[in-house]
Amino acid sequence: MTATPEVLPRSGPTDEPVQPSSLGMRIAIGVFVFVPLIAVLVAIPVAWGGWLSWVDVALVMVFWALTGLGITVGYHRFFTHRSFKAGRGVKIALALMGSYALEGSLDQWVADHRKHHKFSDEVGDPHSPWRFGTSKKSVAKGLLWAHVGWLWGAENTPIEKYAPDIAADKDLAAISRYFPAVVAATLLLPAVLGGLITWSWAGALTALFWAGFVRVALVHHVTWSINSICHVFGNRPFVSRDLSSNVAWLAIPSFGESWHNLHHVDPTSARHGVLRGQVDLSAILIRALEKSGLATDVRWPKPDKVAARLKDPALARRVRGYSPTPAATLPAATLPAATESM
Ligand SMILES: [Zn+2]
Ligand SMILES: [Zn+2]
Repeated sequence: MTATPEVLPRSGPTDEPVQPSSLGMRIAIGVFVFVPLIAVLVAIPVAWGGWLSWVDVALVMVFWALTGLGITVGYHRFFTHRSFKAGRGVKIALALMGSYALEGSLDQWVADHRKHHKFSDEVGDPHSPWRFGTSKKSVAKGLLWAHVGWLWGAENTPIEKYAPDIAADKDLAAISRYFPAVVAATLLLPAVLGGLITWSWAGALTALFWAGFVRVALVHHVTWSINSICHVFGNRPFVSRDLSSNVAWLAIPSFGESWHNLHHVDPTSARHGVLRGQVDLSAILIRALEKSGLATDVRWPKPDKVAARLKDPALARRVRGYSPTPAATLPAATLPAATESM
């Protein structure tokens, strides 16, 4: 499906404060982006050579789920949007799981993402694919920018303005401070497990390659596809002020984050896949946490509110839990007199 912008991005300067990005940081980002990507490029010959076992496949799945959900349920829905409340243990677990995805420290991720919502697809958005214009060539350039290019942008979103709550939390500040240990753990844990399960150095090495590097690349590019693909392609059933869109084929690998049009309409909702048939694995985990008492005050979407934001009211019957109001189903003659004077 091709992009048909319904609203054009606004242009003009913004007086937002920014922090200059250091050369060291840009080099580090280069290592974090390209090393896992190189692993993906050599993955086919490695698998062809027989260096891929069922243990590796299982470890990829486990670490993909842990770190992918760490980003979607942890970094995104819990820390950035406060879609639910949780105790200290769950908070630390989610912060570690998200950090193991190697998408940067929690405080910077939250700050960038909150700024994305504030200026979505307008000047000030850290990663809008519409940054360079709406011609095909500009959007192609914009897609690359929104996917990875913005990571090397000259400016950082200031944490003190956009994520002071994260910076003020001692547990979370410690996890950000010990990021090198997080990097080591996310690569060494699969290697140790692979070595122990197969009781061989070869098993440790292939697990490091598959469940370490290749898995990091997969989680990276699925997350970044939400910033790029889910603001250009797909469909937009809801009235939103930006170009966020729903992309069905990304729903499973992104753990439900690709129902991105709804997310921009109702950012604090714990569920993004609000229409029937829209699989949202992150919402399933949040429901499980709620049922086991580990998550409270969950902001589940309100079917009436969701239905009211649809462009096509006929789609309302597809909203989970939606039932037409009794007044709407009654014949006009039986409506209370008060409504006639409205
Ligand atoms: Zn977005
Ligand atoms: Zn968001």
